[in-house]
Amino acid sequence: MEELRKGLLRVVALVKREAVIDRASIRKILRELERELLKADVPPSIVAEIARKVEERTLKEDVPPGFSRRELLLRNMYEELVNMLGGESRYEPRIRKGATVLLVGLQGSGKTTTAAKLALYYKRRGFRVGLICADNYRPGALEQLKQLAEAVGVEFYGDRELPPVEVAKKGAAVLRGRGVDLVIIDTAGRHKEERALLEEVREMAEAVNPDEVMLVLDATIGKGAGAQAEAFHSVVPIGSIILTKMDGAARGGGALAAVAKTGARIAFIGVGEKLDELEPFDPPSFVGRLLGMGDLKALVERMEKARLSIEPESLMKGKFTLFEFKQQLEELGKLGPLRKIFEMLPGSYQLTPELEKAGSENIKKWIAIMNSMTREELLKPEVLDRSRMVRIAKGSGTSVKDVRELLAAYKRAQKLLKQLGRSRQARLGFR
Ligand code: GDP
Ligand code: MG
Repeated sequence: MEELRKGLLRVVALVKREAVIDRASIRKILRELERELLKADVPPSIVAEIARKVEERTLKEDVPPGFSRRELLLRNMYEELVNMLGGESRYEPRIRKGATVLLVGLQGSGKTTTAAKLALYYKRRGFRVGLICADNYRPGALEQLKQLAEAVGVEFYGDRELPPVEVAKKGAAVLRGRGVDLVIIDTAGRHKEERALLEEVREMAEAVNPDEVMLVLDATIGKGAGAQAEAFHSVVPIGSIILTKMDGAARGGGALAAVAKTGARIAFIGVGEKLDELEPFDPPSFVGRLLGMGDLKALVERMEKARLSIEPESLMKGKFTLFEFKQQLEELGKLGPLRKIFEMLPGSYQLTPELEKAGSENIKKWIAIMNSMTREELLKPEVLDRSRMVRIAKGSGTSVKDVRELLAAYKRAQKLLKQLGRSRQARLGFR
């Protein structure tokens, strides 16, 4: 993956270096991105789609207040790459106490190594793991897994005399008897011929009824991994994928993208020969590393917050009555723009930690007060005279003084919004 990472770092550097971010420079940058992805063997149709989406989004979307189109471009690249690899959320294999995992895949894909890696991974998470060798075709297979089981310090079962399906069934029972709560079955996968392998996988899956079937794929085959994933899923509808040898694979990115494209879920990636070189696959952190930016995740999060909050412009366009004020206060917990407003307010509403706490208590009180108002009062605060305030205070279990404080805070916010509307400088300070 090192090559792809270096390539993408160059693209990110280009984004940062370009003097202006306009249609022409976006195209230029995206051509570089496409080149790097193609080099990593990402299927051309996926590459074209990503470039198209990033371009369209970057030109069309509003730049959130306080950000630049350059940052928007980076964010969109990041998001589209995450989508390409399966989206925001990590796939959680169905592994709990008592589970059985069946590993399948072509010979040489890294199954046996991965079986031991998984054993270590789950042992470290408190499982009592047992490994079963259901590969009786290859001489030495049993010995290989047995040694690995010893190295990891987990239980082992194998029997050269029985057919693989019987070994798996009996092994599971024997290991459970020894207190094992996670059984991992390593299979032969000797077949170069895919059809025969798939048939065996089907038989095995029916016999042992595993909670999770994992297809082990060698990432060095690049985008060809997509077809293998698809064939596998046609036989075993449930299941996930482990891509091995991601460490050395120049085409690893293509393998990931092609597999994700089939809708198959990637559970882990193997990143070296050592037994602890197995990583849960999480698209956001993977892409973050590819783009070489810990700070990119932070950027994406900040932009997300800005997007969630209502843009000041839209507040300023319309009227800002108590009704909007109330909506904003209700949003405040989610970091609405009024929080920023408070931060800019002179005096008592500066959000120092103490005042932030006081502020949030006030906010609850204010919302209660406004809940006691009529719609007319919310939309036309100027009608609020003393007798109405007395009624509202009673209704909300507060005092007239509290109601007046709320109105004062509302007026300060209103005034500030007006100032913001007038001053572009101030709006920039809004970030
Ligand atoms: P099997 O035939 O599917 O059981 O494959 P093995 O587990 O015997 O592995 C085949 C070869 O791939 C061995 O030399 C392993 O060390 C190597 N291998 C497996 N996983 C990885 C990995 O993630 N990275 C690297 N670099 N090599 C791996
Ligand atoms: Mg093997």
